[in-house]
Amino acid sequence: MSRPVFRFAPSPNGFLHLGHAYSALLNARMAAEANGRLLLRIEDTDESRSREAFVRAISEDLAWLGISWEEPVRRQSEHFADYETHLGRLWAMAAIYPCFCSRRIADAQALRSSDPDGQRHYGGTCRSLPRAQGKARSARGDIHGWRIDMARVGNAEAAVWGDATIAKRRVGSSYHIAVVTDDALQGVTHVVRGKDIEPATSLHKLLQKLLDLPTPHYFHHDLIRDAEGQKLSKSLSSTSLRQLRAVGVTADDLRRRLGFA
Ligand code: GLU
Repeated sequence: MSRPVFRFAPSPNGFLHLGHAYSALLNARMAAEANGRLLLRIEDTDESRSREAFVRAISEDLAWLGISWEEPVRRQSEHFADYETHLGRLWAMAAIYPCFCSRRIADAQALRSSDPDGQRHYGGTCRSLPRAQGKARSARGDIHGWRIDMARVGNAEAAVWGDATIAKRRVGSSYHIAVVTDDALQGVTHVVRGKDIEPATSLHKLLQKLLDLPTPHYFHHDLIRDAEGQKLSKSLSSTSLRQLRAVGVTADDLRRRLGFA
């Protein structure tokens, strides 16, 4: 029988903090308990936010924590062709449509309801663009993203996202299509991640169904909170692992504090 596959998949747009450490340690522990494999994936599709220094820091911080993972590490920025293949399949089944609206135009016509990330639902102008016209505009180089046609292919659970962006303008991908593609290509069987991402799972399951990909087991863990009960964010740089390390916190202290002694 093949071994379960877990993954830790940070985005390199900041230094890892306690919340990441918790998620990575939990993945490592669950993988070890299940005699599974642990992968590290760098989610760097958004080149405007990713930095090489953060990529290097991720490996250093995880190694410092005592976590080991399988090589090679998959970097999403090297696999745009895979995301494009899936976008092509979704377009062929009319599950997505190209959206040429700039951020400003999309915002101006946004609907009242908002998605779980707090973004207001897209008003749908480009949804009614004839397919041939969308294709022609795309072929002549008009900048566009891709949106899912939720009314056509969605379900009640995923509908909270409205016509979510599956590939961003200029980026050519988005978190949603990249994560679903990679989890499938890497044979991930167990997705262990924070409750903050839980709402996205309905969208990920919908994409898996449309693309005929296996759905992994999902487990969404509680978020680590700071002393004021606020969710820790990367902007709370006082809690980055390297800053803790710099003031003398050891990996042992940290594992103990997070319940992994
Ligand atoms: N890259 C995402 C993040 O850093 C996590 C992706 C996931 O675990 O599905 O928030």
